[in-house]
Amino acid sequence: MTRNAFQKVCLLIILLFTSAMSSAQTLTYQWVEVFDDLSIQDLRALPKSHWQTITTEKNLNKGFSDGAFWVKLELSPQSFNQMLEIAYPLLDEVSIYWERGGEIIEAHHTGDSLPFNSRPINHRNFVFSVPTVNDSVIAWIRVHTSGSVQVPITVSSSIQFLADEQVGFGWQAMFFGIVAALALYNFILFIIVRQSTYLWYVLTVLITSLVQLNFKGLLFQFLWPDWPLINQYFTVSAVGAALFFTLTFAMNFLSVRQFSIGGDRALNTFRYMALLLVVYGIVGSYQLGIVMVSGLAALVTPAAWIVGLLVWRRGQVLAGFYVLAWTPLLLGHLALAVSKLGLAPIGAFTEFVPQAGVALEAILLSFALAYRINIERQKRQQAQALALKTQREANLTLEARVMERTEELQKVNDKLKAVSLTDGLTQVANRRRFDEKLDEEWTRLIRSEQELSLIMIDIDYFKKVNDTCGHLAGDDCLVAVSNLINNEVKRTEDLLARYGGEEFAVLLPTTTSDEAMLIAERIRQAVELSPITTSQDIAPIKLTISLGVATLIPDQNARCQNLIKFADEALYSAKASGRNRVVVANYEK
Ligand code: GH3
Ligand code: MG
Ligand code: MG
Repeated sequence: MTRNAFQKVCLLIILLFTSAMSSAQTLTYQWVEVFDDLSIQDLRALPKSHWQTITTEKNLNKGFSDGAFWVKLELSPQSFNQMLEIAYPLLDEVSIYWERGGEIIEAHHTGDSLPFNSRPINHRNFVFSVPTVNDSVIAWIRVHTSGSVQVPITVSSSIQFLADEQVGFGWQAMFFGIVAALALYNFILFIIVRQSTYLWYVLTVLITSLVQLNFKGLLFQFLWPDWPLINQYFTVSAVGAALFFTLTFAMNFLSVRQFSIGGDRALNTFRYMALLLVVYGIVGSYQLGIVMVSGLAALVTPAAWIVGLLVWRRGQVLAGFYVLAWTPLLLGHLALAVSKLGLAPIGAFTEFVPQAGVALEAILLSFALAYRINIERQKRQQAQALALKTQREANLTLEARVMERTEELQKVNDKLKAVSLTDGLTQVANRRRFDEKLDEEWTRLIRSEQELSLIMIDIDYFKKVNDTCGHLAGDDCLVAVSNLINNEVKRTEDLLARYGGEEFAVLLPTTTSDEAMLIAERIRQAVELSPITTSQDIAPIKLTISLGVATLIPDQNARCQNLIKFADEALYSAKASGRNRVVVANYEK
């Protein structure tokens, strides 16, 4: 909406409002309260001193009273038709007597305790046309009611009355349209989302609006014109029900219990009082009922407003909307209660504000309900995001742990494999590793047709070392000899293994017989020239070794065991021919 359009709408509303307020002339009239059942003749004979004077600006507003009120209103001659309106439709009994030239020329008896067609003009308020023009007339009006005595009299030209009526009825139609649309819309929301708050809202708006329309006489006019009895019971019960649903909605919408136990208890107490008044409206007296329900409304409205403020301060975001929505209604209800109790004069303010308050409240709360959907959606999205994040993190942690475990297992496996292939004492390869390696190299060298050499080594007279120096010294010797051999085995593809007790084997792939013999010789010398220092408290031990060398070009038809056999035979020869020497296998044998 542009600013210009907005200004126009505001102007229109102000115009409508002011036109609804003004337009009628201010008149002065007399009134008297009587407790005996006096006839019109008795009244006319009543001395002047009994009568009091008041103006149509202030109007008669006497709260609750048992007496009947008589009004004497003198109208000067006019050149146009006039209408007299009493704009409070809840009066039980309203009678009007028109007097011209000292004679009663016309009388009407109506009120909301009689059927609607008792009214001379079919209108939500009590409207009478002034019977004559060009003559002065006196209107004698009798009002008796068990509710609030309010007699807002206006006299205006028929032309003016018709013009004002369009505005007045327009307001009612607009009010009805707004609340009906909001109630229907939120009822549909309730059907869809199935949250009780929406139902409480719909019932609150509906009943509160019915109460407002009832105060304007529209329900009697359109819903039960032939059943005036309903008027006796409806007002108190409907106000009670409106208060009940208003409180239920507030407690539900604001989750009051979560924020304030005291506030919850207070509202709940009022709620049960409202419920009692619903019942009382049907079975009890109208007069007492309307006083009690007005009193309760005057208590509930500020209480609900204060609880709204309280839970707002304690962190309930929605309460902001609630307080905002409740403020105009608070003012409206206060104005209504004050006027019904006869504490303030009736005017456009007290009549207009409650209804505007209801409409504004309905609009703002409907907005708040929509906003609540937004809040809940945000909460849901946050929860979903959190769940997703947690799951992702859990997956990552799980993956990391699985990887860690796999690595650990791999390490342990490698270690186990190494242990299973290593000799525990000397830390060189064991017999199993040797057999594997021999197999591998044999197969590999079949393809390349290259030599594979093997040196078998046995320590000379080792039994004697054990016998004289002890088994521990013997072990030290084995470790030392393996180190000495290892020093001479340089290439990475060569393998030194402990073949048996004090026997070692050196596998030399792609090595010729001559080369192998040279290596064997270097080993033999290394051991011979290195007396071994043991951990025992004895002199270094001099050792010698015997070596058998064999070399074969691996062949599909031969077995690798042949290589061992030949090397063993050569070693045997070395032993037999005096030890501490290298013998190369003789293949011709
Ligand atoms: P030869 O020159 O004929 O080889 O004489 P030898 O005494 O070395 O005889 P042989 O090779 O048959 O003896 C092997 C001895 O090695 C038997 C055992 O006492 C000793 N031996 C075998 N394994 C170990 C071991 O792990 N530790 C120790 N301390 N001695 C061992
Ligand atoms: Mg031996
Ligand atoms: Mg030996």
